[in-house]
Amino acid sequence: MNYPALKVNLDKLESNTRLLVEKCAAMGISVSAVTKVFCGMPEIAVAMVKGGANYLADSRIENLKKMQCLDIPKMLLRIPMLSQVEEVVEYADISLNSEYEVMKALSNEAIKRGKVHQIILMVDLGDLREGVWVDEAMDYADKIMELEGIKLIGIGTNLTCYGAVIPNEGNLSKLVEIADSIEKKHNIKLSIISGGNSSSVYLVGKGAIPKGINNLRLGESIVLGNETAYGGRIAGTYNDCFTLCAEIIELKEKPSIPIGEIGVDAFGNKPTFVDRGVRKRAILAIGKQDVNVEGLTPIDENIIILGASSDHMIVDINDCKKEYGIGNIIEFTLDYGALLSASTSDYVKKIIE
Ligand SMILES: *Cc1c(COP(=O)(O)O)cnc(C)c1O
Repeated sequence: MNYPALKVNLDKLESNTRLLVEKCAAMGISVSAVTKVFCGMPEIAVAMVKGGANYLADSRIENLKKMQCLDIPKMLLRIPMLSQVEEVVEYADISLNSEYEVMKALSNEAIKRGKVHQIILMVDLGDLREGVWVDEAMDYADKIMELEGIKLIGIGTNLTCYGAVIPNEGNLSKLVEIADSIEKKHNIKLSIISGGNSSSVYLVGKGAIPKGINNLRLGESIVLGNETAYGGRIAGTYNDCFTLCAEIIELKEKPSIPIGEIGVDAFGNKPTFVDRGVRKRAILAIGKQDVNVEGLTPIDENIIILGASSDHMIVDINDCKKEYGIGNIIEFTLDYGALLSASTSDYVKKIIE
C-alpha cells in the first residue's frame, strides 16, 4: 500500500445514502446524490446507487463522463459553459440552467443529435448565487417552451452557498408557487421541484418542508452526515466513510518553541506556538499539496496537529496511549474542504474498502 491514502468505506457510504433516501422518500422527496466531493469516482458513486439514490449529480461534466457506466439519470449541477454544450448533451440527461443563451445552444445541440435534453430552471430565492429572479421565472419558462431540443422538467433553487441564506417554509413555498403557475399556464406537469442541498435536510427532519418540494440534491449530508443549515450531525449517519492515512517518517522529542529569531513560515505566515515543554513529536509524509490540513481531525484523540508545510505535517503524540513507531500510520477524519482537496490531489492514493 502507498501513502498518503484516502480510504473509502463503501458500506458506510451506502448506509448513509439509504438513511437519507428513506428520510426523504417518507416526505415524497427524491434524492440526487452529489458526487463532486469525491470527483465522481464511479467505484464510490456505485455505493450511492445501491443506497437508493434516484439521480447522480455533479458540477463537472468530466465527473459525469466517468460515471457513464452507471445506469441512472445524471444531472449537471453547475450552469453549463457555452463552450461545453456538446459534452453536456452527450453526458448529462438533465442540467440546471439560468441563461437563455445557454439553453438555446443546448436545444440546438440536442436537435442536431436527435435528442431531447432535460432542463431544470434555477430560481434565486435570495442566496445570490445562480438562478433567475422570482418575477422573471415565468418569462423564462415561456421562452423555454418554444425550444424544441430541450424539455423543461422542473425548477430548482440553491441556498446556503454564497449568501448563507437558510431555506425555510417561506422561501421554499415561493418555489412551489412558481412551479404551480408554470404548470397551470402551460398545462404541463413539472416532475422535479428541487428544494436545495444539504441545508434543506433539517426541514425534512422536522416535517416542515413545504408540500410540493419533491427533490433535494444532497452531497455533504450523505458523505459526511452533516446537516449544513445549522451545522448539526444527522442521527444514525457515519462521519468516517472517508479516512485519510499518513505515514510517520520521523519521531523525536523536541521543545515546543523554535530556537532563534522568528520570521515567517513557508507560506509567509507568522506562526504562533504554545509552550508545552519538551514533547514527543512525529513528522508525517503529508502536507498542503495533499490536503487542506485545517480540515483534518486525528482519530486518536490525544494527537495534536502542530502545523504543516507543502509535504510535511508535524503532530504532537506525547500524550498518546499507543506507542507509535517509524512507518506507522496515523488516521484522520476529514471535513468537506479536506475531503475535496484529498480527493482532487493526485498524490493521495484512493483505497476502496
Ligand atoms: C454542490 C451542490 C449541491 C450539493 O451541496 P451539499 O451542500 O454538499 O449537499 C447541490 N446543488 C448544487 C447546485 C451544488 O452545486
